[in-house]
Amino acid sequence: MQQINHYINGQHTQKSERCSAVYEPATGEHKADVSLASAADVAGAIELAKKAHASWSQMTPLNRSRVLFKFKALVEANMDELAALITREHGKVLDDAKGEIIRGLEVVEFACGIPHLLKGEHTEQVGGGVDAWTLNQSLGVVAGIAPFNFPVMVPMWMFPIAIAAGNTFIMKPSEKDPSSVMRMAELLTEAGLPDGVFNVVNGDKEAVDTLLSHKDIQAVSFVGSTPIAEYIYETASKHGKRVQALGGAKNHMLLMPDADLDQAVGALMGAAYGSAGERCMAISVVLAVGDAGDALVEKLLPQIEALRVGNGLEADMDMGPLISAQHLAKVRSYVDQGVAEGATLLADGRQLSVTDHEQGYFLGGSLFDHVTPDMTIYKEEIFGPVLAIVRVKDYAEALQLINDHEFGNGTAIFTQSGEAARHFCHHVQVGMVGVNVPIPVPMAFHSFGGWKRSLFGPLHMHGPDGVRFYTKRKAITARWPKPKDAQAEFVMPTMK
Ligand code: NAD
Repeated sequence: MQQINHYINGQHTQKSERCSAVYEPATGEHKADVSLASAADVAGAIELAKKAHASWSQMTPLNRSRVLFKFKALVEANMDELAALITREHGKVLDDAKGEIIRGLEVVEFACGIPHLLKGEHTEQVGGGVDAWTLNQSLGVVAGIAPFNFPVMVPMWMFPIAIAAGNTFIMKPSEKDPSSVMRMAELLTEAGLPDGVFNVVNGDKEAVDTLLSHKDIQAVSFVGSTPIAEYIYETASKHGKRVQALGGAKNHMLLMPDADLDQAVGALMGAAYGSAGERCMAISVVLAVGDAGDALVEKLLPQIEALRVGNGLEADMDMGPLISAQHLAKVRSYVDQGVAEGATLLADGRQLSVTDHEQGYFLGGSLFDHVTPDMTIYKEEIFGPVLAIVRVKDYAEALQLINDHEFGNGTAIFTQSGEAARHFCHHVQVGMVGVNVPIPVPMAFHSFGGWKRSLFGPLHMHGPDGVRFYTKRKAITARWPKPKDAQAEFVMPTMK
């Protein structure tokens, strides 16, 4: 049995007292055990990261960026291995795993520009003989806590900018699929990152709670479900830390009757069923306006029935398994509940069986029609390959539904009307909006984040917000008076 521990100060550590099982979702096999860090394990890592900060923060930004350039090249050279690690533990198909690595690398590329990104503002002569400028300095030791669904990309939303800005980092991956982050830690060391700058502590609530309350953690980035995001935000804030905590989602596609239906259906298939629906930006609801619903169902259903579901390591699969037996049971129970609540189940993924993978956590693509906003399957995030169609009479009703929903991560409108699209972008209460784009994930040089209960904290991930989150500003006002000018001033200084 493979044993996965922690990666601290440039090395793999010993096993912790407690461990948890890591499964291969396609086979249901118990593949490895991962150590669960104790509070003392985490405190030890923080101490070493704090020591490393003293010298790393003093290295020139250009030299820090050079380490990231090397890291990018190493990730590219080891792309196949990393993707296979993701697929084995997460289940998503290999090409999708590579896609998440590439999207993560885009943040590394952005962070390579840190010498430019750290530049402050400068104003000459704010007063007679007085100049003013700002510095963007590192915070110290910062922490990242990641979900299972993007084991490489989500950590890469966080650590490249954090370390490029001169911070040192403690990463706490999901205990369900920790191997790919451990491999990235090794590659960072190989790229020349000094020991202690990037550390991985595997663990559960005990490790997380230690990070949230430890006096030497300055900032916490979190991505995961909404109840935990809210807990992280409240607890870490109470302990005086900066926090960005991204939560769950229920992303709606608004389908106008004038949309190009073939395009919309193609987009929807990938957005609803890609990665088995385990994406925070997955489309899980279609609001079909007017008579768009009938034509949509007619085109969508055969494609759902043709989905190739199986082991993500095999060629030509569209969709792999869900992450765990518990999650499979939960998603299945949502399908049961949708039926019990009176929605029309047009495609029933519960029937699926994958040959030679009978113990895998598979669910086929499922489709509900005539879902109403009072149903649980409309209100809650299912996080599986289950799509709901809600029939609405007009655009205004659709917009209202999106704006009334608890979550506000992503949304998309499919239409040929520029007027409708423009109105939608302006009035929708959601953080990331697509126009004929189903999964509008911003590129690395923009920032990623939802609204409402999809994000707690003011700053989004990566892009300009990422730089701001991981730096603190210092404003300097300076003059160089001649000795004869020096005299005490007892009134509020004003510009002369
Ligand atoms: P999760 O909330 O269960 O776990 C996320 C992290 O929190 C893990 O590292 C886990 O170990 C830790 N954790 C879990 N329970 C905890 C507790 N009680 N106390 C302290 N720490 C705890 O989420 P998940 O199931 O791994 O991921 C799926 C969720 O993440 C979905 O809701 C999805 O929408 C969300 N997500 C959101 C985004 C986004 O950008 N908004 C991106 C990806 C995933």
